[in-house]
Amino acid sequence: MNVHIRFLGGAGTVTGSKYLVEHDGQSLLVDCGLFQGFKQLRLRNRDPLPVMPNHIGAVLLTHAHLDHSGYLPLLAKEGFHGKVWSTAATRDLAQILLPDSGHIQEEDANFANRKGFSKHAPALPLYTEDDALRCLKLMHTAPMGKAFEPLRGWTARFTGAGHILGAASLLLEVGGKRILFSGDLGRPDDLLMKPPEAPPAADVVVIESTYGDREHPEEDVLAELAPALQRVAARGGTAVVPVFAVGRAQALLHAIAQLKARGDLPHALPVYLDSPMAVHTTGLYARHLGEHRLSAAQCHDMEHGAQMVTSVDQSKAIAQQHGPKIILSASGMATGGRVLHHLAMHLGNHRNMVLLTGYQSPGTRGATMAGGSPTVRIHGQDIPIRAEVVQLASASAHADASQLMDWLRASPSAPHRVFVTHGELAASDTLRQRIEHELGWRALVPEHGSTWAA
Ligand SMILES: [Zn+2]
Repeated sequence: MNVHIRFLGGAGTVTGSKYLVEHDGQSLLVDCGLFQGFKQLRLRNRDPLPVMPNHIGAVLLTHAHLDHSGYLPLLAKEGFHGKVWSTAATRDLAQILLPDSGHIQEEDANFANRKGFSKHAPALPLYTEDDALRCLKLMHTAPMGKAFEPLRGWTARFTGAGHILGAASLLLEVGGKRILFSGDLGRPDDLLMKPPEAPPAADVVVIESTYGDREHPEEDVLAELAPALQRVAARGGTAVVPVFAVGRAQALLHAIAQLKARGDLPHALPVYLDSPMAVHTTGLYARHLGEHRLSAAQCHDMEHGAQMVTSVDQSKAIAQQHGPKIILSASGMATGGRVLHHLAMHLGNHRNMVLLTGYQSPGTRGATMAGGSPTVRIHGQDIPIRAEVVQLASASAHADASQLMDWLRASPSAPHRVFVTHGELAASDTLRQRIEHELGWRALVPEHGSTWAA
């Protein structure tokens, strides 16, 4: 009996990760992500899967980012009722991220209906907050490094991938094949997360390639962050920092706390974390000590170095604060969330700054701002961009191309085949070529929807 992998997402794009593994009449889904970014991609979330959700036996999540977990509420709504396996920290994060995602889907649908710009009348949310809360009941946890049985006769094991809290690579053993999914791999020198663990031996490797064609610069986050924040503080401006609520927000809080501690930023410079999700996530680091680099004392400093903003009234009150300040707010690519209001308010003034952190997916407002556009569309209006736009090169939660190659090179044996996924086509193909030329391994970039024998 052959083992097959179907690439239902995360192929030729960084979003929508969904890999269906089939063997002997059983199947499970590795990751269950939402498509994000270009509308053409987002519309794929509305297409039915080529397999009935109630025929999928289990879901295994490598980590909680929505491009890996955000389709789960819809899968459950459409009939999936198996177990969803993840690490404990990923489960804790999913409890924060998925209901919020449902809430955003509902808000977007309501907004479209109010403004009348839905082509379908009325616009319906992909899923609701309640759908998300229901699917969380399916979640089960497995510790890092310990084998478990997601389906009869299938063995799975998570190993640390760095990247974000709870993130794992996944080794699946089924039908005599060992299939390794890298998940999203972090950088060895990440501020918060430990380096990814070396990969176990596998017959087939499915590796991410977000930065498959790029190298991160040598400089560290603190060295890059300090002059930008000093500049905006000196001219009395506001730095609006769109952050991913999970990971980037905490890394920046930790970095700012360190800059203040060593005197590189004034102690009194107000810092706001305006994202209920990021605030809740920040509290999780102390609960999962040992899974990241921070000590209990550093977790404490991170939590207390900024004013935690959760209510809408508090959020609006920030705008009334005069003088220099730093506002960290979600989402990281400015695709939605409270950061839009802060951007709309601050983009027009040259004293202010937009500090973009991490990868900006094409089609998002983050990419528009990073690309030097004179305006960006927010809430139906073209907002002129007069603020300084800075993109942090170093603050990425992803390994760069050489780091991806180093991870592969640490494999105890050569796999028969490598599938290069989770990247824009150019990035995936560049990494594919490096794998073939430098390692001599067979590698290919699977097409969206294609099926391959493992
Ligand atoms: Zn991720």
